[in-house]
Order: sequence, then structure tokens, then C-alpha cells
Amino acid sequence: MAGAEKKSFSTPYFLVDEKRLVKNLERLKQVSEAAGCKILLAQKAFSMFYTYSLLRNYLAGTTASGLYEARLGKEEFGGETHVFSPAYREEEFEELLQYADHMVFNSPNQVRRYAKRAKEAGKAVGLRINPQCSTQEGHDIYDPCAPFSRLGTTLENFDEELLPLLDGLHFHTLCEQGADALEITLKAVEEKFGKYLYGMKWLNLGGGHHITREDYDTDALIRMVKHLRETYKVEVYLEPGEAVVLQAGFLVSEVLEVVHNGMDIALLDTSAACHMPDVLEMPYRPPVKDSGLPGEKAYTVRLAGPTCLAGDVIGDYSFDAPLKEGDLVVLEDMALYTMVKTNTFNGMALPDIVWRSQDGEMKLVKSFGYEDFKNRLS
Ligand SMILES: *Cc1c(COP(=O)(O)O)cnc(C)c1O
Repeated sequence: MAGAEKKSFSTPYFLVDEKRLVKNLERLKQVSEAAGCKILLAQKAFSMFYTYSLLRNYLAGTTASGLYEARLGKEEFGGETHVFSPAYREEEFEELLQYADHMVFNSPNQVRRYAKRAKEAGKAVGLRINPQCSTQEGHDIYDPCAPFSRLGTTLENFDEELLPLLDGLHFHTLCEQGADALEITLKAVEEKFGKYLYGMKWLNLGGGHHITREDYDTDALIRMVKHLRETYKVEVYLEPGEAVVLQAGFLVSEVLEVVHNGMDIALLDTSAACHMPDVLEMPYRPPVKDSGLPGEKAYTVRLAGPTCLAGDVIGDYSFDAPLKEGDLVVLEDMALYTMVKTNTFNGMALPDIVWRSQDGEMKLVKSFGYEDFKNRLS
């Protein structure tokens, strides 16, 4: 992190690191070349379009969850643009067709309603399936295979009459998982939907593959992709979000004040609720530079945000020395699901965005102000 402490940027700011990003991108490119598959950026995790000209050298395109992401991908990234939506809107559909190469539908009814128009516009048409195979526990909000899920078509709801309209199948069931979870999922996919795969041009394995994590078994992934390509003669897509920017960004903040109520509580100039809502939503404890678990180092403190939400708490951490006003606190692994989810609750400013290039030079890419708050209100 040397260099991040430079005082020339006003906190809080997101810092995205090119060297770390490129390390991820090289690994993804190796996988796509070795496996013979295409890898797309899932923009819902990371849409910092300043980086798209770099990402384009490594990835085949983007995937979008909605109209604006599709447009951003088409205009700023290029390559292939894929779109999935649980339910398309009639008034947006024609515009979406201008941006998308692949349109993935969630239900047979949506295929019936829209697929013909997509085909006539020359687009590839896919159906998202639900293999009903949960491989994660305790995180129902991130499990599209949980009971009563609205995401994907179950085998029971599959309609063979639609097969002539379909170019491909899509599933997305993983979240921050390894190749072992994919293996279990693929077994369920093949058992249930294998008979339909023979007639398809492609299979999209969705996101949630933590390919750039140290312990991820890329050989197993490559083996599975090759198996799919050889068995079903399909083109294979992966569309990770997290894995593209894993460990490639920071959120740099400053201590505004330390209060005491049973324990020391440091008020930062960044907020969990506004700048890293997944900390509360998921919930999870973000890594913080030079810190330990509570009690592990000499000084334990609660890190909290400056909003009036009582629960705007990042977590309890320990440091070698007491935190004091003006100290910098660097939250780690903050490129994913942060910038795309920030909000201005309480009239909080959005963090600026800073880029550190491979040569160590830091550049302010974007700063936000009052207008960004006001423009969303009336
Ligand atoms: C969220 C999502 C992704 C990306 O997931 P990550 O966990 O960020 O890799 C890809 N595809 C679809 C359909 C998604 O909903």
C-alpha cells in the first residue's frame, strides 16, 4: 500500500490498483485460452469504465443486468454484450436490442413474448435454467437455487416447444465459490438439462467463480469447460464479476473522532451504509490494513461510519497503537460491489475514485459533489 497514504487526495476515496488488476486479468486470460472459453466482465460488480480499455485486452466483453449496464458495456467496452433480466420491460426492449448480442430470458413465458423479436434483430437467445442445486449455506440472499427462487427455469417448468428458439442455456448459481462447487452444480445441470444441451450453440456458466483467489483450482475449471465443449459441442462462457477485481481496490478513509462507550469507537469519514453497503447486507467484515481481530493486537476499536444510522458499523478491529483523529484507515478488497452500490443517504458525499497505474503514479479519475446528491432528488 505504499503511496496510498499520499495526502493529496481527499478522503474517502476508492483506490484501484492497476498492478493487482492486471494480475487478475492475466489469470483470467490464461484460463480462457487454456479452456477455450470466453470470459465476460459482469458489470454489476464493477463498472469503472475508466478501466475498460485495459480490461478489453483480456476479456471478451461484458454482461449486464439492466438497460444502463448494457449500454455502458456496448459504448465503453465493446466486444460482446450479454444481457440477462428476470423480466424485461416492453418499453426498454427495442433499445436493449441495439446494445446486446446475447439476450438471456428467465422463463418460458419471457421467451415466448420476446425471443422472436430478438432473433429477427440477429441476436442470440438463451434461457436461464435453475438446476435446483444449492452449494452455499447460510447466504440465501445470494443463492438463486434457494426454495421459491424466482431466478431461472426449473426442469419442471421447462417447455420443450421453445427449443427451436433457443441458441443457448445459462445458469448462475455460485457466489464466491471454488471449482468444487461448480463440479457439483454441473453434475446437476447435466443430469437435468444435458439432453437439451446437445442442441445448443453455447452454455453460459454465470458468475460466482472465484478464479483469481490463490486457492482456486483453475485446472479443474479448465477440465470441466473442455468436457462441456467436447461432449455437447457448445461454446462456453463465464461471466465473473468479483474475480475480475478481487483484491484490486481499497477504500481509504480518515478518522474524524474517537468516542468511548464501553469500548473505543472510531468515527471514520466513510460509511458502511453509504459506501460499502454489502458490509451490512451480506453481512461481512472487510479486511483493514495493519489490523487484527479484536484483542489480537494491543488496541481494540470499533470502526463506524459518520451517519445517523445506529448500525452503520464496519466492525471491531485491533491495531498496534490507538487510533487518533487524522489517522488513515485503509479498507481492503473494496473494488467489488462498492462503487456500483454507493448512495448519498444522510447527504453523504460519494468517495472520489483514484487510479494507481503500474508505475505507481496516482491519478484522480473522478470526484463527486453536491450535484450528484441533488440530481437524484427533486
Ligand atoms: C451477479 C451475477 C454475475 C457475477 O457474479 P460474481 O459473484 O460477481 O462473480 C454473473 N452473472 C449473473 C447472471 C449475475 O447475476
